[in-house]
Amino acid sequence: MVEDYFPATYCDGRARFLSACLDARVPVASYRNPHPGPEGEALYTDAALVGRTDAENVVVVTSSTHGVEGFAGSGIQVGLLRDADAPKPPPDTALLLIHTINPHGMAWLRRENEDNVDLNRNFVDHEGGNYPENDLFEELVEHLVPKVWDDDAYERYKAAIGALNHRYGEVPVRKAMHKGQYRHPDSIHYGGGTATWSNRTLGRICGEFLGAARRGAMIDVHTGLGPYGYGELMTPSKPGEPVYDLFFDWYGEQVHSTTAGASAYAGSKGSILAGFRPPVAGLEWAAVGLEYGTREREHMRRCMLANAWLHAHGELDSDLGRAIKRDVKDASYPGEEKWKTMVWERGREVVEIALRRIGA
Ligand SMILES: [Zn+2]
Repeated sequence: MVEDYFPATYCDGRARFLSACLDARVPVASYRNPHPGPEGEALYTDAALVGRTDAENVVVVTSSTHGVEGFAGSGIQVGLLRDADAPKPPPDTALLLIHTINPHGMAWLRRENEDNVDLNRNFVDHEGGNYPENDLFEELVEHLVPKVWDDDAYERYKAAIGALNHRYGEVPVRKAMHKGQYRHPDSIHYGGGTATWSNRTLGRICGEFLGAARRGAMIDVHTGLGPYGYGELMTPSKPGEPVYDLFFDWYGEQVHSTTAGASAYAGSKGSILAGFRPPVAGLEWAAVGLEYGTREREHMRRCMLANAWLHAHGELDSDLGRAIKRDVKDASYPGEEKWKTMVWERGREVVEIALRRIGA
């Protein structure tokens, strides 16, 4: 049953993944995160390669770059190991499953990692100190993590952002909010001051598993944007650029550029898609996001704002803390069977095409 692929918690997801690997006789490499989960449990990123270790082509599927969004990707990964209709890699191609690259965020039900870093803003050059500019964020920062959470907190936030939209324009404010910032470690969308554990672990896994590969394609699974249950393919690359053109060739009009056209979202230079490259010489590399819609946008924002307050000023172990966490989880991972079935069917389709096309 498709529902059985999808976990209730981080630990449950890990158990399902390991047991599916065992049944499929696929060896697992485990990487322990230095920090524990909320119950004191140990947290791991696990990696498993389906197919030949010397395959020329490797399709990589990653989950939980944004911790709490990891339930969908975890379910897809278990389905790829267990489902009778799961696509099988052709002889010259392998499938690398990287289960929960940000296990801390998934276990604690938040986007960020153990350092309050948004991993999807962390893939920048930290050595030179030349972080992408985001001056307008300075105008926003005081509103993004409320000091008090009450019935009016969300309305106050909306009013403050509305005033900034009026002053600076809606698109610049949205971009400043989402593109990542490197000055406020206690705020949201913080990209960090160094490569995080998850960043380094991803590099290490790819170095270990892709050494013999000539072509790699990564599908990074997210949730929280777009229509309910539909997985949209997103790339920061533009038409005419090699990565976009490759995925357009595979998926046609289903591919959406986040930086081109009128609907341009905020391209973060430090995203896993834009900023990560495996440490493998001569490897051709392309990465695409698979973003599933969950709940209505306004509701999502309210949940995420409450979660930011909770981690900065609230009490996790309280009725309010538990209620916020219930909403945050639901906003990233709707519990309905229908949603899970849609997630799996679409995930299977996207991976099937990648496996078939990457070596062609
Ligand atoms: Zn995400």
